[in-house]
Amino acid sequence: MVKAFLFDMDGVLYDSMPAHVQAWHETVLSLGMNSNPDDYYLFEGMTGAATIDIFFNRAYGHDATEEEKQRIYAQKSKRFVELNPIPRPMPGAREVLEAVKKRKLKRVVVTGSGQPTLYDSLDKDFLHCFEKDLMVTGYDVKFGKPHPEPYLLGLEKAGVKADEAITVENAPLGVRSAVAAGIYTIAVNTGPLPDKVLSDAGASVVFPSMAALAENIETFFNRL
Ligand code: CA
Repeated sequence: MVKAFLFDMDGVLYDSMPAHVQAWHETVLSLGMNSNPDDYYLFEGMTGAATIDIFFNRAYGHDATEEEKQRIYAQKSKRFVELNPIPRPMPGAREVLEAVKKRKLKRVVVTGSGQPTLYDSLDKDFLHCFEKDLMVTGYDVKFGKPHPEPYLLGLEKAGVKADEAITVENAPLGVRSAVAAGIYTIAVNTGPLPDKVLSDAGASVVFPSMAALAENIETFFNRL
């Protein structure tokens, strides 16, 4: 019996990944380090600090200091907002949300993002589909994805068990986090990685887009 849907945000609810990738790419290049845009789709879901440590370890063989992490993440975040001043909902995301709401299933957002205005944007863009206390953000967790903590906290906030929930994710590390929390996971492949990366991470089904999930969601519910 499904009682809740747990949604990742970037690349699922919002078409924001190209701007995140560009902002990371420019930031890492500005530090004089090598950068490959596809990497950021593989790291997607990790905290900013963990991403920065990967680049420092590649270049220097050690983690960044706290001061470096804060400064570099602030630079990346500033550039992201310049590139993506008005968040664009992912085509099909509103339809998926409406279908889930119509079935009276709880909707939870599980994101590594920590923008203070997150709830206001979600409420405006997804017409009251979300509640303020049903959100897990970057501020709520100690470990980012692929650790199961963010999705376990999402289950706790919704008051449901793992087998009563479904996750919608677009990133391999996000899929791994949800699967490690014991949740049935739908992947939507909204980025450039092959579908296999998402099924190998543990996704039960892979759709090519949120629009494709929206088209198939009634069939999906009927099959449950
Ligand atoms: Ca994502």
